[in-house]
Amino acid sequence: MNQETPGADPYRLPRHIVPVRYDLRLEPDLTAAAFQGHETVTLSVLEPTTSILLNAADLIIERAQLEGPHGQRLDGAIELEEPLERCRLTLPIGITPGSWRLHLSFRGTLTDKLRGFYRSTYTDPSGKVKILAATQFEATDARRGFPCWDEPDFKATFSVTLVVEPSMAAVSNGRVESETLEEGKKVVRFADTIVMSTYLVAFVVGHIEPTPPTFVGKTPIRIWCVPGKQELASFGQDVATASLKFFEEYYGIPYPGDKLDLLAIPDFAAGAMENLGAITFRETALLVDQRNGTHGELERVADVVAHENAHMWFGDLVTMSWWNGLWLNEAFATFMEMLAVDTWKPQWKRWETFCISRAAALSVDGLLSTRPVEYPVRAPKDADAMFDVLTYEKGASVLRMLEQHIGPDLFRNGVRDYLRRHAYGNADTNDLWVALGDAANFSVPAMMNGWIFQPGYPLITAELTAETTLTLKQERFAYLPTDSRSSATPPSSWHVPIQLRVLSQDKNETVRMLLTGQDAHVTLASAPKSVLVNEGGHGFYRVRYGPVLRAKLLAAGIARLAATERFNLINDSWATTVAGLTSLADYLDLTAGFSDDRDKNVWAILIDSFAFLNRLIEPNQRPALQAFVRQRVQPAFSAVGWTTKPGEDDLIRQLRGELVAAMGRLGNDPAAQTRAAELYETAKQDPTAVDPNLLPALVSILAFTGDAARYDEFAERFRTAKTPQEERRYLFSLTAFRQSELLGKTLERTLNGQIRLQDAPAIVSAVMGNVYGKELGWEFVKTHWDRMDREFPKQGLRRMCGGITALATPALEADVSAFFSSRKIDLGGKTLEQYLEQLRITVRFREQHASRLQEYLVAHTAGGGSS
Ligand SMILES: [Zn+2]
Repeated sequence: MNQETPGADPYRLPRHIVPVRYDLRLEPDLTAAAFQGHETVTLSVLEPTTSILLNAADLIIERAQLEGPHGQRLDGAIELEEPLERCRLTLPIGITPGSWRLHLSFRGTLTDKLRGFYRSTYTDPSGKVKILAATQFEATDARRGFPCWDEPDFKATFSVTLVVEPSMAAVSNGRVESETLEEGKKVVRFADTIVMSTYLVAFVVGHIEPTPPTFVGKTPIRIWCVPGKQELASFGQDVATASLKFFEEYYGIPYPGDKLDLLAIPDFAAGAMENLGAITFRETALLVDQRNGTHGELERVADVVAHENAHMWFGDLVTMSWWNGLWLNEAFATFMEMLAVDTWKPQWKRWETFCISRAAALSVDGLLSTRPVEYPVRAPKDADAMFDVLTYEKGASVLRMLEQHIGPDLFRNGVRDYLRRHAYGNADTNDLWVALGDAANFSVPAMMNGWIFQPGYPLITAELTAETTLTLKQERFAYLPTDSRSSATPPSSWHVPIQLRVLSQDKNETVRMLLTGQDAHVTLASAPKSVLVNEGGHGFYRVRYGPVLRAKLLAAGIARLAATERFNLINDSWATTVAGLTSLADYLDLTAGFSDDRDKNVWAILIDSFAFLNRLIEPNQRPALQAFVRQRVQPAFSAVGWTTKPGEDDLIRQLRGELVAAMGRLGNDPAAQTRAAELYETAKQDPTAVDPNLLPALVSILAFTGDAARYDEFAERFRTAKTPQEERRYLFSLTAFRQSELLGKTLERTLNGQIRLQDAPAIVSAVMGNVYGKELGWEFVKTHWDRMDREFPKQGLRRMCGGITALATPALEADVSAFFSSRKIDLGGKTLEQYLEQLRITVRFREQHASRLQEYLVAHTAGGGSS
C-alpha cells in the first residue's frame, strides 16, 4: 500500500497515480456565471493504494467513481483540502496497479478574476453589453476549471467537449471534430490534443468570430475577436503566419498542433497565453489597425504573436519539469520572438531596439535586491514573482550573448537537438545546456551558470595601463554601496565573453576573449587610438572606461560607433552616474555629444535620464531643467522636423514622436505645444493628414497642457475608441494632466467600473509616475488598498506598486516604507524590496546632487529659461 510519507511536500502530488487522458465535458452558463462539468480521467496506477489525491480549487465535486480494469466500480469519499487546493478521494477498498478510470461530476463559478474559467464583458456594435467566457490556467489555475493533476510534468491527452448556446462559438486546443445539437444546445467536440500539461488547456465560449484561415503547410491559422473588430485582425494574422513558418524551419520540427487559433479577449490579465493551438491575447497585443497603428503598436503585436508561437515548441512540446524552469520557457520565447520578428521585418532592426529591453534588465539586476534568474521554487506561488524583467529580458539577453559567442548555427543545432530529445516530455535548464554544449563542443554550464544562478552582472572597467597593455577588471555592478559585511564572502565573478574593437592607425581589429578571472591584461599589437569594449553590444554587462581610454574613445568620435554601441556608451554612463561612479557633470557634458544622433534608442535613454532628474528636482528648479532639455533636444528635433519625409523609415518616424513629446512636456516648449494643438485639430478633421507615430506625442502634450474641457474630450474618446490602441492611448492620457482634480477623477475611474480591471492598476501606477500626481496617487493607494488587494488581478497589483519608485522625496519614501511594513504586504519574491531600493536610489541621488544640478543647469543654459 502506498501511504503518503509524513512530511511530504504539500505542493506536490504523489507520483504513484499518473493521469494519461482526460475526457472532459463542460457546460458553461454565461448569464448565470456558472459551469457544470463531467470528466473521465484515465489513470495509470503504479502501486496499490486506497486514496487518490488530485488538485481542485473553488469547485464543488458532486460525485467521484472509480472504474476498474474489469468493470468494477468504486465510489470515492470526497474530501476537499481547500488551503492546499487539493481533493482527496478515499476508496472503500484498496486498488491494485493497472489502468483505472476516474469519473467526476463537478460545478464551479465563472468569476470576474481573470483566472481559471472566467467571464469577460464587452459592448457589441449595437451598444449591448455581452459576455464571453475564457480561461487563464498558467500557472496553477487549471484546477479552478476542472479537477486535475495540475503540475507541468503530469502530461496527458485532453479530449474536450463544450456544450454551449447554439448561437455561440466554442474554441479549445484541438480542431472541431463534430458539432451536434442536443436538447437545444450545441455540443462541440474537439480532437484529442497532443500529450501536454494542464496549464496549456483552454476554452473560449461566446459570440466571437474568426477570420478566414491562412495556411502554413496544412495548419489553418485564424484570428478570433468580438464582432466589429475583424478589420483589425490582418496584421496579427500576417505575423502569425510568417512566424509559424519561421519556427518550423528554425526548430526543424513541424508545428505540434492540428490548427492554430489566436483569440483576442476583452479582459485579460497578462499580455497573452500560449495555450497550444488556442492562444489567448489581450486585445492590444493582437488586434491593430495596420495602416493607422504606430510603429510601436505594430511592433508590440508582432512581438507578442511571435513570442506565443515560439512557445508552441518551447514550452508546449517540451515543458519545464517544475516552475523553477519557468525562466527558460520565457527567456527562450523572448529570444525567439526577436529572431522571428528580425527575420520578418529586417528594416525594424529588432535586435537594435532590443537594447531597450536589455537596459531594463540591467537596471533591475543592478539592485542589491535582485535575484538569480533561476531559483528554487517550492510552492507554485513562489514562481509568481518570476514573471518579470529578469526572467524575460535578462534571460533573453544572456541567451543572445551565448548565441553570439558559440555562433548562431551551432546554437540552432543545439536547440533542435534539445527539442527532439525531449519532445512530448519535460526538461530542465541543464538539459538545454547539455544539448547546446554537445552542438558547440563547448562547456556551456561553465559560462552560463554564473549568469543564471548568481544574481547581478559585472561592471567591466577598462584602462590602458601601459602603452600597449589593456587591463580589464570585473566587479559586480550595483547602484548602492554593497554591504561591508559581505566582504567576508568572495566577490562574484562571471565568465564574460568580451569582444573588443581596437583602432590603431586607421585599422579596426576585433579581439575576442572570455574573461574568467577578476582581471586580465591584454597585450595589443601597437599603441591603440581607441578601444571599444563590448563591440556589437551583445554582452550583458556594463563598461566603464578609465580616463585615458575614455578620452581616446571620445576623440575618435562617437559617430564611428554602431547604434547599439552608442546606446551602451550613454546607457552605461548614466548608470554609473546614478551609482556615483561617474560625475553628474561629466554625464551631462557627454549628452551634448549626441546632438547629431538619430537613433531612437539612444534618445530614449537621454530623455529617460532627463525625466529622472525631473522627478527629483524642486519645482523652482524646473524652468532651468526645461531650458536644458530644450537645448539638448532642439538640434535633433529641428533636423527631424514635424513632417514625414518621403522614403523615411519607421524608426525615424518613431524618433520624431519621442522628440516632439520631449520638447512639449519635459522641455515645456510653448512653440511645440502650440504646433501640437494645431496638428491635433488637423488630425481630427482628417486622420490621414498626420503620421500615426506623431499622434501619441500630440495627445500626451495636450494632456500635459490641458484643462477640464480637454479632459472630458479625451475621456469621451477613450469611451468611444475604435481600436484597442486608441482606447489605450486616450485612457493613459487621463493620467498625464497636471491638475489634481482631473487626476483625482482618473483615479476614481479605476474603482467605479469605468476602467477594466486589466488596466486599472497600470493607471494608478501612471498617476504616481506623473510628477504632478505622485502625492495624490499615493494617498489613493493607501486609502483603497484593501479593496484593490481584493479586486485587482495579483499581477496587476504588483505592477501598480511599481509606481512607488517615482515617489522621490524623503518624506514620501519614509511613508511608503512605513505603510508596506505596517501592513506586512508581500508582493511575492523580492518585488517590494526592489521597488523600495529603486526609490532609495532616487532619493539618495537627490540628496547628493540636487544643489550641484541646479548650479550646472544655470551655468549651462542661458539664464535658466523663462517659459
Ligand atoms: Zn511567454
